[in-house]
Amino acid sequence: MTDAATRLAEVRDQIARAARAAQRNAGDVTLVAVSKRHNVAAIEDLIARGVTDFGENRVAEAAEKWPALRQAHPGIRLHMIGQLQSNKAAEAVELFDVIHSLDRASLLEALVAAGAKAGRYPIVYVQVNIGGEGQKGGVAIGGLGDLLDAVRASQLPLAGLMAMPPKDLEPGPFFALLADLSRRHGVKGLSMGMSGDYPVAVMLGATAVRVGSALFGD
Ligand SMILES: *Cc1c(COP(=O)(O)O)cnc(C)c1O
Repeated sequence: MTDAATRLAEVRDQIARAARAAQRNAGDVTLVAVSKRHNVAAIEDLIARGVTDFGENRVAEAAEKWPALRQAHPGIRLHMIGQLQSNKAAEAVELFDVIHSLDRASLLEALVAAGAKAGRYPIVYVQVNIGGEGQKGGVAIGGLGDLLDAVRASQLPLAGLMAMPPKDLEPGPFFALLADLSRRHGVKGLSMGMSGDYPVAVMLGATAVRVGSALFGD
């Protein structure tokens, strides 16, 4: 097996084991391969191995890599996982199927307007600033209810909640908190877990994990 094949098998195995430990179905967890800074050849290698969901964190990089890839591989779903400026909403709507970083009403409005023009609306996760960190993206926990109400009143399909725990702290309690918020607000999906912590995230209810370096190498 090539390195990429070994890494992919390991990630899939870890997801399956974590799901089993939590008595969950591994099929309920979407593996989003985070391909930022990785080239088209590495991406196509994973597509050939059955990976269907990819994540990018910058609109400009996605615009360079993905239009041709999408044309060659029509079944792919592309996820925007990084912070999104409202003035990039139109481009984001053209490029992405799913946006994980909706964190404010002004961005929601920009996405709705862009979706109306494009005739297609992205699926969205509302990103929560789960650790209450200063400069981090995400809506404050106290503002989550209002933002969810606004999304539900809009044309954008709501997939769930997304968060990134603070670096250097145990992620588990933050994943558990996000899962609790999703229950309280009646939201289903949970986008949480990266290369360092996706098995814990799956045990605590993740329905989408965003895995970069564990799949692509460094
Ligand atoms: C880069 C990134 C990831 C993946 O990180 P890895 O540690 O490489 O798995 C996940 N989510 C977001 C928002 C990212 O920017």
